[in-house]
Amino acid sequence: MVKNPIVIAGAGPVGITLADKLSFHGIPVIVLEKSAAPNKEWRASTFHAGTLELLEETGVTEELIARGLKAEKVQYRDRRNGLYAEFDFSLIKDETKYPYRLQLSQATYVQVVYERIKSRPEVDIRFESEVVDYVQDDNGVTVTIKTQNGFETIRTPYLVGTDGGRSTVRKKLGVSFEGYTHEERWLLVGTPVPFNRYIPDLEMVNYISDPDEFLFILRVPEAWRLLYPVPADVPDEVALDPERIQKTMQKALNTTDTFPIVENTIYKIHQRVAGKFYKGRVVLAGDAAHLNSPMGGLGLNSGVHDATDLSKRLIRIYEGANAEAEFEKYSEVRQKVAVEYVKEISEKNTRVVKEKDTEYRLKLQKDMNELANDPIRAKQWILRSAMIASVREQGIGEPPAGVR
Ligand SMILES: Cc1cc2nc3c(=O)[nH]c(=O)nc-3n(C[C@H](O)[C@H](O)[C@H](O)COP(=O)(O)OP(=O)(O)OC[C@H]3O[C@@H](n4cnc5c(N)ncnc54)[C@H](O)[C@@H]3O)c2cc1C
Repeated sequence: MVKNPIVIAGAGPVGITLADKLSFHGIPVIVLEKSAAPNKEWRASTFHAGTLELLEETGVTEELIARGLKAEKVQYRDRRNGLYAEFDFSLIKDETKYPYRLQLSQATYVQVVYERIKSRPEVDIRFESEVVDYVQDDNGVTVTIKTQNGFETIRTPYLVGTDGGRSTVRKKLGVSFEGYTHEERWLLVGTPVPFNRYIPDLEMVNYISDPDEFLFILRVPEAWRLLYPVPADVPDEVALDPERIQKTMQKALNTTDTFPIVENTIYKIHQRVAGKFYKGRVVLAGDAAHLNSPMGGLGLNSGVHDATDLSKRLIRIYEGANAEAEFEKYSEVRQKVAVEYVKEISEKNTRVVKEKDTEYRLKLQKDMNELANDPIRAKQWILRSAMIASVREQGIGEPPAGVR
C-alpha cells in the first residue's frame, strides 16, 4: 500500500513528537511550521516520569536525561512561614526507572527531537509554512498553506493540528474551547544566579503561596526561573521594566543583590479543553486541544501523551483499522485525561499558591502537609502528578473495544 504523508500543522514539542513516533514506524509526515526555525523559547521546564517512559520508544529519553537535571523533591512553601510540604520522589522508585522530575527546557527538547528526525526519509519539515485553511471530504483533506512564495495546497489523508493554543486548525474545525482565563498574567524571569544561595534547602521546583504575589521557582540547566503574577491593570511595559523586575526578585529572595536577566516573558494563563478532539479526518493534539496553568508542568507533558496515543492509532489506521472508531476513542480518552488529571492537578497547585482567603489558604496548606506526610497518599499523588497514573488507568493508544 502506498502511504501518503500525514500532515502535521505546527513543529512545537507535540508536533515534533508525533513526527518522531510516526516516522519511526515508517509512516511519512509533512510538518508545516509557520516560523523560520524551531522555537527557541524555553517555556516548559519539567519532564515527568510518565512522559520519559513514553519517549523511550524512539530513544529520546536517554538524550534528555544526559542534558537535564534531576529534581528528586518538590516543595510547597508559604512566602511568610516557609516550607510546609515536601514530596520525595524516592517514594515511586519501585514504580518507575525515573523517580524524579527532569528539569530541561522545552526549546532543548524540540531541538533534540528535531535533530534526530530531520534527515529521516519519512520526514519533510517545512518552515515558513503557515496552515491558513483546509477543507475535508470523504477521501482526504486539502490543506492551504501560506509560504514565502504565496499560497500552496497539499492533499493528505489526515491533518493533525498541533498548532498551539491559538490553533487555526481548531478554530476552523468549529469545536468549542470552554474554560476560563486567569485575570492576572504571569511573568517568567530567568537568571543564572542560583536561588539556593538566598533560600536555604531550596529544591529545583517550588510552589510558594502568597495572597498578593505567589511565586513559582523552577530550575533549568541554564538558569533559575521565577514565575509571578502581573495584576490585570499593570501594562506589559511596566511589568517588564528592568528596575521593577529587580525589585520583585530582591523581595522574593530577601536581598539587595542585582540579577542578570536572561529570560523575561509574560503569559496569559488559561484552563480550557476542546469539546471534541477530532472531526472527520482532522485531529487536535497538545495545546490546540487543551490549555492549563503551568503549575504542575503538565501542558507539554500531556501533549506528548496525546501524540503517543494518536501515533499508535494512526499506525493501526495505516494498517487498515477503522479511523472513525480510533479517533472517537482518542478524543474520549485524551479529553478525560485533560479534565480529570491535568486540569484537576494544575488547578489544585494553582489554588494552593494564590488563594487570598487566609483561613482557606491555611487549610489548603494543612491538607497538602498531611498529604506529603502520609507515604501511601503521597505516593499516589506523585504517581498522578508524574503522569504515570493516567497512563495506567486510561491507557495510551488502546484500540477501541470490539473493533480490531
Ligand atoms: C510559563 C510556562 C511554563 C510552562 N511549563 C511547563 C512545564 O514545565 N511542563 C509542561 O508540560 N508544560 C509547561 N508549559 C506548557 C507548554 O509550554 C505547552 O503545553 C507546550 O508548548 C504545548 O506544545 P504544543 O506543541 O502543543 O504547542 P506550541 O508549543 O504552542 O507549538 C505550536 C507550534 O505551531 C506553530 N504554529 C502555530 N500556528 C501555526 C499554523 N497555523 N501553521 C503552522 N504552524 C503553526 C507555532 O509556531 C509553534 O511552533 C508551560 C507553559 C508556560 C507558558
